[in-house]
Amino acid sequence: MPASSLSLDALAALGGPKAVTRKKPAWPCPTDEEIAAVVASIRAGREDWRYLCAAPKGGPGEALEERMKRELNVPFAIATSAGGPALHIACMASLQMGDEAITSPYSWGQTTSCILQSGGIPVFADIDPETLTLDPQKVEAKITPRTKAIVVVHIGGVPAELDALRALADRHGLLLIEDCAQAQGSLYRGRPVGTIGDFGCFSMGSSKNLAAGEAGMVVMKDRALYEKALLAGMHPARTGADVHDPERRAWIDSLIYTYRINAVSAALALKQLDRLEAMNAWRRRNVKALAERLADVPGIRALNVPAHRDPAWHMAWWTFVPEDVPGVSRAQYVKALQAEGVPVSASYVGTPIHLRTVFQRKAYHFGRGYPWAAHPEGEKIQYRAGDCPVAERRCAEQDLHMLGSWAMEDVTPLLDEIAAAFRKVAAQLDKVREIRA
Ligand SMILES: *Cc1c(COP(=O)(O)O)cnc(C)c1O
Repeated sequence: MPASSLSLDALAALGGPKAVTRKKPAWPCPTDEEIAAVVASIRAGREDWRYLCAAPKGGPGEALEERMKRELNVPFAIATSAGGPALHIACMASLQMGDEAITSPYSWGQTTSCILQSGGIPVFADIDPETLTLDPQKVEAKITPRTKAIVVVHIGGVPAELDALRALADRHGLLLIEDCAQAQGSLYRGRPVGTIGDFGCFSMGSSKNLAAGEAGMVVMKDRALYEKALLAGMHPARTGADVHDPERRAWIDSLIYTYRINAVSAALALKQLDRLEAMNAWRRRNVKALAERLADVPGIRALNVPAHRDPAWHMAWWTFVPEDVPGVSRAQYVKALQAEGVPVSASYVGTPIHLRTVFQRKAYHFGRGYPWAAHPEGEKIQYRAGDCPVAERRCAEQDLHMLGSWAMEDVTPLLDEIAAAFRKVAAQLDKVREIRA
């Protein structure tokens, strides 16, 4: 990069002007049509109680399920109060106390919580450094006779290597649960994520690609799994109508989490689905445009996601490359960029999940050593630093991420400013080394 083409402004971290002056678009940001749809559903509640109460079928909750079933081409869907509950009822339908489930240490905690909440024992497999998703070979190495499920996350919207995971699950008789909370609209070989596993679990929380306040959805293909998931989280007014198996019907109202969606969020999600694809198209364009602008910036490189895995980027990821910027720490690099107004952060995951307190102490709400006490060799199960070196290194040294949910429209001028900020920082690495991080 020739020095003459660079701005000579002082770094903002050292008192100079900020390179980024534009504001990010607000998110979540419901349109007037979405607000009108919510108001209309509340008004409809005067005539039909199902518009304000999602306990039975009917109303916006069922309409949202029907639409997701149609769009994803799956026979069963359960709208839930959030993504966590969607994952929890999928695990309740899949695991018994003491069963093992293989998952990623590189995610939002709920990918693992759902296993523990169901009495399952999380077993962590490492990720692939180019896509940050479960490495199928590492998963295979962790399968034991007690493994019952794989909980895979499409982190940041990047689809995991689903063909290989599906084949592993089929070969070993495991259930495949997809955590699509950050990936609504991501495609694997042209198919929507969430439709390749036995369960696809979505979040419509306020930060997600579809933002309906708080809401979620789980989709399935198998009726038995559907009925089990219903029994774990839905009101008897729903299970009474939808659970057909006589043996299962005996369990209606036995152990129920109140996980149904609220009708107002359902109305909002249903209307917002009209523009999800357009918003995701902008996410794709914006991440690509930013990657092009930052391709020659020292200190970072983009992920290398194979073409058959098409992310509806929930976040954009970069990998910090310390060899490119000798003497500059990730903390200094990020601090310099943040001072310029770049919405970049280090270490999305923070502590890799297998190294967090619950696994170091093997203690959870159940007490008395459960769920590990329910496993014949539970005492021997350990979670150690070094178990998942790729994820651990990513967290400790390499992760940079940005582009949250504000990039769902045309933000080209902002991307230009962000790129200028990166180049400004890269041109003054001697000054970056002076920053106290
Ligand atoms: C947000 C999120 C969840 C949980 O969704 P909620 O709607 O917040 O309960 C689960 N997994 C991942 C990867 C998430 O990002």
